[in-house]
This record gives sequence, structure tokens and C-alpha cells, in this order.
Amino acid sequence: MADPATPARLRAALKAEGVQFIELEGWTTRGRDAATGKIFGPVHGILNHHTAGVDSLDVIAYRGVGAGLPPPLAHALLRKDGVVVLVADGRANHAGLVAENVFRAIVAEKPLPKQDASRTVDGNDSLYGLEVENRGDGEDVYTRAQYDSWVRFDTALCRLHQWTERSAAGHLETSVEGKPDPSGPVAGYGRRGRFTFTMAQLRADVRERLAHQANWRPPTTQETPAMTPEYVNLGLARCYQLAPGLWDDIELTAEWSDEPDDHALNSPTFVKGAARFTGSVSLRFEGLAVGEVVQVRMSEHDDAGQVQHTHPPHEVIGTPGGTYSSVPLTKRVPAGRSMRVQLLNQGADSVEVASAVLTLLVWGE
Ligand SMILES: [Zn+2]
Repeated sequence: MADPATPARLRAALKAEGVQFIELEGWTTRGRDAATGKIFGPVHGILNHHTAGVDSLDVIAYRGVGAGLPPPLAHALLRKDGVVVLVADGRANHAGLVAENVFRAIVAEKPLPKQDASRTVDGNDSLYGLEVENRGDGEDVYTRAQYDSWVRFDTALCRLHQWTERSAAGHLETSVEGKPDPSGPVAGYGRRGRFTFTMAQLRADVRERLAHQANWRPPTTQETPAMTPEYVNLGLARCYQLAPGLWDDIELTAEWSDEPDDHALNSPTFVKGAARFTGSVSLRFEGLAVGEVVQVRMSEHDDAGQVQHTHPPHEVIGTPGGTYSSVPLTKRVPAGRSMRVQLLNQGADSVEVASAVLTLLVWGE
């Protein structure tokens, strides 16, 4: 049991813990104590949330959600760049109904039981609320800077109040209304690469931080897995006539690949995401009149084969005695997307695509 941190103590604690923060104008007097007639505090813990949105500061600080949920909706907002915005010092509308059995465990700093929905308390009385910016769709990734600040923020409050990491809870652990937050993928933390957010992991990271001085920095040498690229060499399935006026996929066929996996080789697709690649395609045209143009571009397709995006074209201009050209190919392909090479004959007559050799280094992600 403790009184809420004064603005001065909170600033000092965040600063000591290395949290980058900014102060929203009026935060030291913002809160719903007067509106509700209920004073914020004593405090017993920190409730962690994700915003399930983007650019949520306006909603959290000023707008709220409809008539039922007036602002402020948190004490602080943690942006994707790792900067914490201090929003409110008083009572904030973030916790909703907290299962009483879970609340008692937070107060006692014991492992949290599953919610018993039959008895609840108002979590807004006594829990700090941190909203962490994330769409909450399971795809949006908490950045390294954001997660590092998250650990620091919760630790700063625990250190200030002499709490253990067990005073940090997640909305999904306390809510009797089925709230799912916080959740989602994290880009990494310390030496850890990408991982899935869990409150257990956050508490473990807070515990580790609490065991150090406030100015501690987690070692950040990233585990870089050996990134050996796949070498891919594709050739033209067959020579063919390219009619004028239509973008057309080049049909490629595998000539050689040192380690086939699911990132390459599925004509006309030459790379499937998620992957990064660099290389080139060498082309030879017959019958391209001098000065006539064939354009070459990469196009990005979804799983259904639909074009999602095309990249800027290169121009191959007809020269006497056959036309040769090499076009660079470097891109990152997200998951669920694949790349093709396409040609557009801008002349009036068909042109023979006599040869195409595509060589790439492909790094799967
Ligand atoms: Zn929440």
C-alpha cells in the first residue's frame, strides 16, 4: 500500500531508470478524482495494456471512448519509438472491473490466479495504467525501443514503491470482461531476438532489472543467426514471342539452387516472402527494332496470384544485332507475397525473348 507517486518522484524514478519521457501539458492535474468523487490511491500495482490502435494519445488523453469511458484512459502512453508520454496523475479509466481474487494476489505479490468473475473491484482506484501503442492484431510488432522502455517503466514504479515484479499485471490477467491485452510480437530485447509478448516474460524482465541498479542497461549484443544466403540461378523455360502492348510474366525455370526452400523457384515466381534478395536478370531479345523499347519490371503478387504492387520499370532499347541487357533486382518481399519479372513490349511488332538468366542471393526471413 502506497500513495501514488508525486509528479516529482515519478519524474525522478523514470529518469533514474533511463525511461525517455515527455509530459503532456496538464498531466499533473489530469484525472477523474473530482468527476467521480473517488480519489486515486493508495496504489497497489501497474496494469499494462495495449492500445489496439495507432496514434492513440488523443483518445487516451482528451477524447475517451464514447460517453461510457471518459478520459484520461491511462496514466501514461508508451509510443512505438519507446518514448513514454505522461498523460495523467489522478484517476484514469483503464482497468475496468478487476476480479477480486486477482486483485488480492497483486496486493500480496503472489502468483495470479485465474479470474473469478463473481466478485470484482474497481481497478481504477489503485492501479497505475500504462497503454502501450500496438494495433493488437497479433501482427503489429512492439519495437525493441518500446519493449525496453516498457520494462524500464514498470521497473521504475516497482522500485519507487519497493514492489517486486509481481505488482505488474496485464489487463488480460485481471479483466472479467475478456480483455485480451497486452499481446503481440516483440522485435527483441537485450540479447533476445523476436519473441511473443507474455506478462510472465515482462515480469521476468522487470525482475532482472530490479536486481540491478536503476542505470543498468541490458546487454544488447543481438543473437544474429548465421545468415547464409541461398544461391539461385533461373533460366528461361523456353524462348517465346512477346506480343506488343501487355505486361507479361517471364516463365522461369530452375537451373540450379544450392538449397531449395520455400523462398524461391516456383515459376513464374522467383522469390517468395518473407525474404530479401539481390541479383540481376540478364536478357537477350531478337527482333527488337533499333530504338524500340521493352520495359522490364518486378511485380509483387499475393498468394492468390493477384498483383499487389509493381516496381519501377527499366527500359531495354533495341540495338543492331540482338539486344542484351542486365537489370538489377534487389528487394525485400514480405510474407504472403511473391515476386515475378514482367516484360512490356512497347513496339509495334512481336519480339523474341531469346534468353533470360536470373541469378540471385536470397535470404529467408
Ligand atoms: Zn486494456
